[in-house]
Amino acid sequence: MSSTSFDDRDGVIWYDGKFVNWPEAKLHVLSHGLHYASAVFEGTRVYNSNIFHLDAHTDRLFNSARVLGFEIPYTPAQLNQAQRELIKRQGIADGYIRPIAWRGSEMMAVSAQKASIHVAIATWTWPSYFSVEAKLKGIRLDNAIYRRPDPACAPTNAKAAGLYMICTLSKHAAEAKGYHDALMLDYRGLVAEATGANIFFSKDGVLHTPTPDCFLDGITRRTVIGLAKRRGIEVVERFIKPEELAEFDECFLTGTAAEVTPVSEIGEHTFKPGRLTEALVRDFDAEVRAEPAEAIAVGA
Ligand code: PMP
Repeated sequence: MSSTSFDDRDGVIWYDGKFVNWPEAKLHVLSHGLHYASAVFEGTRVYNSNIFHLDAHTDRLFNSARVLGFEIPYTPAQLNQAQRELIKRQGIADGYIRPIAWRGSEMMAVSAQKASIHVAIATWTWPSYFSVEAKLKGIRLDNAIYRRPDPACAPTNAKAAGLYMICTLSKHAAEAKGYHDALMLDYRGLVAEATGANIFFSKDGVLHTPTPDCFLDGITRRTVIGLAKRRGIEVVERFIKPEELAEFDECFLTGTAAEVTPVSEIGEHTFKPGRLTEALVRDFDAEVRAEPAEAIAVGA
């Protein structure tokens, strides 16, 4: 990945239907999305020049916008095509795509019913850096300083910019203490997720993962549940209390950025990434690099 700042790179960004030079993809400081967090986004991976679960990410983007009360002024097919074209133009084989939609500048108050809706898409190279062996050392999580909010208090089923305020603060606090990330509880005090990834535990060969009723039911989470079931591993989605952490053998995170990331520590609890975690790290790696269905159909 380039070491230059994200606002000054080579190439183009798709912006409101056009490809514009990367440094010129700007918005005005008086944009509702910036002041009031009326913005939704996606994070999607590209593996071997294929966009992993593009339709699921695009569906979620449109749904997130609806949850925030606005309609994206393009069709899902248009945004999918824009993303395919963008990765080609930018020469991305293994990378990340960031689509974002936000309310514009016509109204600058809490109410912004008539503000225009904008969409931009950027992509950059982002290979997987770590070998399975290095990953299996595991990362260390602190206990987060914030909790996931009650769905009665925030639109928790949207991938909305505003919900990341507590994630950034929790991650910064954890990093300041030498941890990689933090485990967030939910408003009830139950185990929820990390600051940008879902969480799984194992006990006696069975996987346990929190029920996603106040945080994202991640696309990677669902993929990994499918991979585990394919191996005949039982997966239990349920409420998990923090007291139970002492009883689990293995722990890992799942997310578009995190992929499958083994965890070795959460606060006072330690975990030993083992057979089950390693199998899923490898299965996920194989899954993302498998030929996509449409490519197979073309070749057949
Ligand atoms: N929770 C949060 C807060 C996230 O930001 C992400 C990453 N989008 C996830 C979970 C995992 O979602 P996905 O697997 O769809 O990337």
